[in-house]
Amino acid sequence: MSGGEGDSTKMKRMVDLLRSGAAMLADVCPLCSSPLFRLRSGDVYCPGCSKRVIFVKEGEDASKLSQLQAISELSSTVSQKIMELTTMAKHESDSERLYELGRCILTWLEVFERVKRFRE
Ligand SMILES: [Zn+2]
Repeated sequence: MSGGEGDSTKMKRMVDLLRSGAAMLADVCPLCSSPLFRLRSGDVYCPGCSKRVIFVKEGEDASKLSQLQAISELSSTVSQKIMELTTMAKHESDSERLYELGRCILTWLEVFERVKRFRE
């Protein structure tokens, strides 16, 4: 053996991890593409890099984060639309068009209210 970290060393670590009660995850290490393991302590460990990996847990955290991001984007889009429609209404003299604009504004306001409630 040259003393380098070969696949057999990695395999041995993986076996040791499984023996210690760690669970193999479906995700791989972004650095060495080894399968990642969740230790009983909850930490995620890479047997290839032989170190702990800071990893966004699949499911809950990631989806909640993107959900919050989407909500904040939606919220700014909605307030922008309401302002645009208000400006349009200001310059509109056709009553039918005004009626349509009013309905649009009401719809957006409703979305805005829901988004606000969701964020609270
Ligand atoms: Zn790794």
